[in-house]
Amino acid sequence: MCNNCLITRRRFGFLALAAAGTAGLALPRRARAQNVPTVMLDPGHGGHDPGAIAPDGTFEKTITLASALALRNALGTGGRYNVAMTRTDDSFVTLEDRVTLAVSAGADLFIAMHCDHLPEPSDRGASIYTLAPDASDSLAAAVASDENAADHLGGVPVAKVSPQVLPILASLETRATRIASATFAQDIAASFQGSMVLMPDAVRSANFAVLRDPSTPSALLEMGCLTNPLDEQLLTDKVHQAAMAQRLAAAIDVYFQTQKA
Ligand SMILES: [Zn+2]
Repeated sequence: MCNNCLITRRRFGFLALAAAGTAGLALPRRARAQNVPTVMLDPGHGGHDPGAIAPDGTFEKTITLASALALRNALGTGGRYNVAMTRTDDSFVTLEDRVTLAVSAGADLFIAMHCDHLPEPSDRGASIYTLAPDASDSLAAAVASDENAADHLGGVPVAKVSPQVLPILASLETRATRIASATFAQDIAASFQGSMVLMPDAVRSANFAVLRDPSTPSALLEMGCLTNPLDEQLLTDKVHQAAMAQRLAAAIDVYFQTQKA
């Protein structure tokens, strides 16, 4: 990482900490292996925010946590990475605090993990989002709007950042970060090809709150659609969660090998 990125990260870290405004926020203090990248896993929702709810009552927050823990296991072998998580249990973390945790951990890569819920039950498959001031299409805009609404649940104060400022924050993303994020999203799509179901036009972009650190390459993965019975069955299956974690770990390996080259 260049010095300029570090400066940007520190500046944004200050802004993010100020925006988070959470005095008791616990920052990761685990021992870090030196000279290996730090990957921040962000299981969506938690606590009083269940996220999407499947027809049989399964909560998105439960699937995202189990899937992120599976990915942590897949990444944890061999000392290739420092792996951190925005939550490791059923607790609520605001979107701003998730960004703050990534900045504080000095994350080199951030991946938010979610499950879609779409109006058409036949729609299924994973999709991968990167940050953009303007959504790539109406579906991407709707998904971002849903995921950004997490802080509205349970009476958590919102509007720490005004809607007018959101596009400006997104536009602060550095060109290098934007290119790296797009590379990572394509790496995930390539790794999933042939082994995981992907939505048509699976790589999209929109203005997601958790992707707004301008110096951390990031992507938000919708792992499948809870509104589709086949996807729901897979998303709740431990074997499938482990298989997806392996494909994601492979994508992360490719991403960092590319960055080194
Ligand atoms: Zn979600």
